[in-house]
Amino acid sequence: MKIYADNAATTKMSRHAIDAMIPYMEEIYGNPSSLYEIGQEAKEALESARERVARVLNCEPREIYFTSGGSEADNQAIISAARLGARKGKKHIISTAFEHHAVLHTLNKLKEEGFEIELLDVHSTGLIDPKQVEDAIREDTALVTIMYANNEIGTVEPIREIGKICRDKGVIFHTDAVQAMGHVSVDVARDNIDMLSLSAHKFHGPKGVGVLFAKKNIMLTNIIEGGAQERGKRAGTENVPGIMGMVAALEDATKDIDGYAKKLIPLRDKLIEGLDKIPYSELNGDREHRLPGTVNFCFEGIEGESLLLLLDDKGISASSGSACTSGSLDPSHVLLAIGRPHEVAHGSLRLSLSEDITEEEIDYLITSVNEVVTYLRNMSPFWRDLVNGVRPHVFKE
Ligand SMILES: *Cc1c(COP(=O)(O)O)cnc(C)c1O
Repeated sequence: MKIYADNAATTKMSRHAIDAMIPYMEEIYGNPSSLYEIGQEAKEALESARERVARVLNCEPREIYFTSGGSEADNQAIISAARLGARKGKKHIISTAFEHHAVLHTLNKLKEEGFEIELLDVHSTGLIDPKQVEDAIREDTALVTIMYANNEIGTVEPIREIGKICRDKGVIFHTDAVQAMGHVSVDVARDNIDMLSLSAHKFHGPKGVGVLFAKKNIMLTNIIEGGAQERGKRAGTENVPGIMGMVAALEDATKDIDGYAKKLIPLRDKLIEGLDKIPYSELNGDREHRLPGTVNFCFEGIEGESLLLLLDDKGISASSGSACTSGSLDPSHVLLAIGRPHEVAHGSLRLSLSEDITEEEIDYLITSVNEVVTYLRNMSPFWRDLVNGVRPHVFKE
């Protein structure tokens, strides 16, 4: 059996998204800035795509900027808000310890420039309490940036409430909604969001294309200089085929969120229940407030890397957390942020499902993880110490 269970890292493109791109490579390949017919046709397609994205997000087309993906959108949103704040003497930025590196590394750069970065503690459930945000906001707060859903553990944050607090206090609120889009309902007006980042390849669209939503009163700072594309805020010839593929995928991913949740949640819960039966294991992140397809567990006495390799031998593509941390020996900053000790944070497994997963495949996932965990524990001296009581267990049996 072959199971791709790493949809939080990237997704397979949908046939519809691929088909939507092809005409813009073969026929309407003109530069949208050119005045002749195939340039103007590309321009029209681009502007219609902008309207369609705006309809999905519930905003105005002029509030949509196309980027090269989620990372660029995060960078531009945060830097823009920082520059706007600095002009008014506001240099305090609030975020959380478990953001994506596209956010955390951008904040680090701003810290070197003299901004004060306050990272809120994440509760052991992987949730941020809106009250924490309210208490942290000061006169000189320039920005609050908190992700909609976490890419490693799959928790969904109380974004509407956090947005409301920021709106009431007049602070710009940005959310990285890369993992949320197409999985839970997102509405920038309802959720009081000022800026939001999206990435097409996380919802069955192409890689290298994304969206930055910014409310019309927010002056963006360019991070890529050059031509006057995207109303002068993002230079570079627009990725028209990518944008057309993205918008097709976005509409498909958002048209029946309830149906998607209804189908996937019972399968996800079956997976959680199955993995929970493995002794000395624990689910990471809140049981209820989570994405319909993301499951993340820690297993005591296991090395995450070996777990992944052996699962790969069984035809299962999974991850130990984020694609960005694999290859490094540091445990996940997300698992440390929710209070997992180093030794169990190393033994993590993320399974992120797509909606075409079957019950039979869920059974295969449970059996395979069980077998591999047992096998690895049997050869681990660390596990022997736990069994013999030389070292204390972190989890209950
Ligand atoms: C994947 C991801 C990103 C980065 O998006 P790219 O399009 O790959 O640059 C940012 N934030 C989160 C939460 C993600 O999961």
